[in-house]
Amino acid sequence: EEKEEVEEWSARKGRILKSPNLKVFTFAELKFATKNFRGDSLLGQGGFGKVYRGWVDEKTLAPSKSSTGMIVAIKKLNSESVQGFDEWQSEVNFLGRLSHPNLVKLLGYCWEDTELLLVYEFMPKGSLENHLFRRNPAIEPLSWELRLKIAIGAAHGLAFLHSSDKKVIYRDFKASNILLDANYTAKISDFGLAKLGPSGGESHVTTRVMGTYGYAAPEYIATGHLYVKSDVYGFGVVLLEMLTGLRALDTKRPSGQQNLVEWLKADLSHKRKLKTMIDGRIEGQCSSKAVWQAAQITLKCLEPDPKSRPSMKEVVEVLERIEA
Ligand code: ADP
Repeated sequence: EEKEEVEEWSARKGRILKSPNLKVFTFAELKFATKNFRGDSLLGQGGFGKVYRGWVDEKTLAPSKSSTGMIVAIKKLNSESVQGFDEWQSEVNFLGRLSHPNLVKLLGYCWEDTELLLVYEFMPKGSLENHLFRRNPAIEPLSWELRLKIAIGAAHGLAFLHSSDKKVIYRDFKASNILLDANYTAKISDFGLAKLGPSGGESHVTTRVMGTYGYAAPEYIATGHLYVKSDVYGFGVVLLEMLTGLRALDTKRPSGQQNLVEWLKADLSHKRKLKTMIDGRIEGQCSSKAVWQAAQITLKCLEPDPKSRPSMKEVVEVLERIEA
């Protein structure tokens, strides 16, 4: 069994593409930068690993003692899990080659024995999910203006991925994967499930259904057919969460464990219902025209038929016309 394991690892090594823009760190360097992955360096925990704060030199990215240079976020993956490896590889191969103000910057990686790590720019405001749903009194509720800014930023990020020369489907768009910098600029992180989109006249790619219930598009859940527009649905769910302050998947709604979109759409006049939900949330912070426009674009993104959803480029244009 052990031999099999070894072969697995060496076979995988061959699949790593070289990403010339990334620094290759040693494990010792990252151990040093995080003070031996100490508990008080822990920034958060994800599905496949833990994220630590570390210090590096701003120019060379060499780890520095502490409190000098630049803070980075260092993700240490559970290397025993195949999914942890796949996530690591996907991050290096996608994010390592992409650069955009609304994508988190990947600075480098480490692969030593079975240790897999990723080094990112530090995002001081954490995730959008933290801001929307964590009941931490230290976190101020987001104003209408900031919500709109975050939505526009995230939309630009997705539109960039979808552009004709990239054709990347992100596949796991959700509030916990949107990180915020000091100015609340939204940056998309976590390309663990990203896929190259269809080519040569195909409309979709067919894959195993993975992602997050509540955000995943209905056509994808039903058939495994993944469209570029499947990301637009996920974006619509995040918009809905931002506008209503309700979680995509919530066990507290009257009908039990139910998807926020199903719950909204169960009401025939859902546009009016959505507007009422938003109004209550951001009362006095913006005009009712802005609320109406936001409700309209949200529902378009949530259309059951992917062809009826707007492109992310169109979404950007609509959001940028809404009053802050
Ligand atoms: P998940 O698997 O839930 O998407 P991650 O493993 O990517 O989560 O990250 C877990 C947590 O670590 C995030 O929710 C966030 O609070 C924190 N985090 C991740 N990346 C960064 C970063 N670049 N800067 C600051 N905090 C981060």
